[in-house]
Amino acid sequence: MKRLYVISGSSGVGKGTIIKEFLKRNPKYKLSVSSTTRKKRPGEKEGENYYYISKEEFETGITNGEFIEWAEFSGNYYGTRKSTIEDALSRGENLILEIETQGGQQIKKLLPDSVLIFIAPPSFEELKKRLEGRKTEDEATIQKRLSQVEREKESSKEYDYIVVNDEIEKAVKRIEEIISQSAI
Ligand code: 5GP
Repeated sequence: MKRLYVISGSSGVGKGTIIKEFLKRNPKYKLSVSSTTRKKRPGEKEGENYYYISKEEFETGITNGEFIEWAEFSGNYYGTRKSTIEDALSRGENLILEIETQGGQQIKKLLPDSVLIFIAPPSFEELKKRLEGRKTEDEATIQKRLSQVEREKESSKEYDYIVVNDEIEKAVKRIEEIISQSAI
């Protein structure tokens, strides 16, 4: 069985860019595709970024125990299906979960061997500027996401590693180091 890696980080911290670059350089690693009830953003693809499902479908999935972890974030549900993890691990793939910290904590409890990495901004002010500059969302959504930042920062204390994203290249290298050190 391969190891599971969880990468978390507040909205706008650049984790998407870092993970994309990591995966390009390390094609052996696969990114888990989550299910969500949030609306598809422009440019996103079903089955690639997320599986976009209704609130009812998600709640049925919770009741049926289909999710290994799930959380409510900014008014929407997000979760990882057990089958996604089982399929990847049975194929011998190294799987990366890009999920928020409540989910990360659930994974660590269930699978203590998993490695939790938190991507932190160089400063809260810098992050706020980046978040406000993201024009794909309305003001209320941005404010909601900003209010999650403090909570996520608090939960990051339980993470195995914290990587500060002051420079994409350095952050990607640090993640490569962490992952290769813990590879099995
Ligand atoms: P976004 O809406 O920006 O794509 O994601 C919002 C947050 O949900 C991000 O912090 C992202 O990492 C997290 N997220 C995405 N998929 C999952 C998941 O399956 N489970 C949990 N717990 N969080 C997720």
